[in-house]
Amino acid sequence: MTCIVITGANRGIGLEHARLWLETGAEVHAACRTPDRADALKALDPGDGQLTVHAYDAAAPEAGKALAAAVGKPVDVLLANAGVMGPRDGQSLGNTDPGAWVDTLKINALGPLLLAEAFADLLAASKAGKLVLQSSRMGSISDNTSGGYYIYRASKAALNATGRSLAIDLKPHGIAVAILHPGWVRTDMGGSNGLISARESAETEKALIEALTLENTGEFRHQSGEFLAW
Ligand code: NDP
Repeated sequence: MTCIVITGANRGIGLEHARLWLETGAEVHAACRTPDRADALKALDPGDGQLTVHAYDAAAPEAGKALAAAVGKPVDVLLANAGVMGPRDGQSLGNTDPGAWVDTLKINALGPLLLAEAFADLLAASKAGKLVLQSSRMGSISDNTSGGYYIYRASKAALNATGRSLAIDLKPHGIAVAILHPGWVRTDMGGSNGLISARESAETEKALIEALTLENTGEFRHQSGEFLAW
């Protein structure tokens, strides 16, 4: 049985991944900031031990280690999905909020790195451990033709740089790394004009995760499968 750990699993794309992987028989360790309020996530519980809900705050430096200790067994897929946009009104030139910049970087880039460090042994203990970073094409420097969004873009570019180093450093340990753009998805973050549903995003990402190997580790891909430039 596949064992997957998903962060930010209480709503949006992470919740859909939890639903989808449970449907396909995986053992799901779903992490969220406030399990007490994760009603939609808990409602997915088939009641046979297939779903475990854990507390996890990506901004807390020790959270990755605590989550890894709580899971405590070989992990086939670690999906670092939790993320924030940062302030909607503090990302245009002249309006940078320094505190929000640092907070967003901590959640979107430092959090996944600490998580990867904490789970490296558990992923290596799997036959084919996979680390998946939920990035964004807004983290692509060459794709940026519209400017703005300084905080979010910088945080996802930092995540992408982190993902490439992780792919190189974890390969000798048998761990493959994917850096994914989930599409423009209709969630709280993506808004109602998004092009695809969270279900479609999760399904297409799952197919990419299943196709992830040590041969294609370290790639930056759109959920459509298209390669994205750094
Ligand atoms: P949502 O805003 O709908 O959900 C974000 C999730 O991340 C929530 O579960 C939220 O939990 C969690 N989260 C936020 N901050 C933290 C934290 N400090 N610790 C733990 N969990 C946290 O966003 P999406 O589902 O749309 O986005 C998921 C990922 O996909 C993000 O990384 C995002 O950047 C990326 N993405 C999304 C796109 C889109 O179009 N939607 C496009 C490109 C990338 P809580 O409920 O506690 O806030």
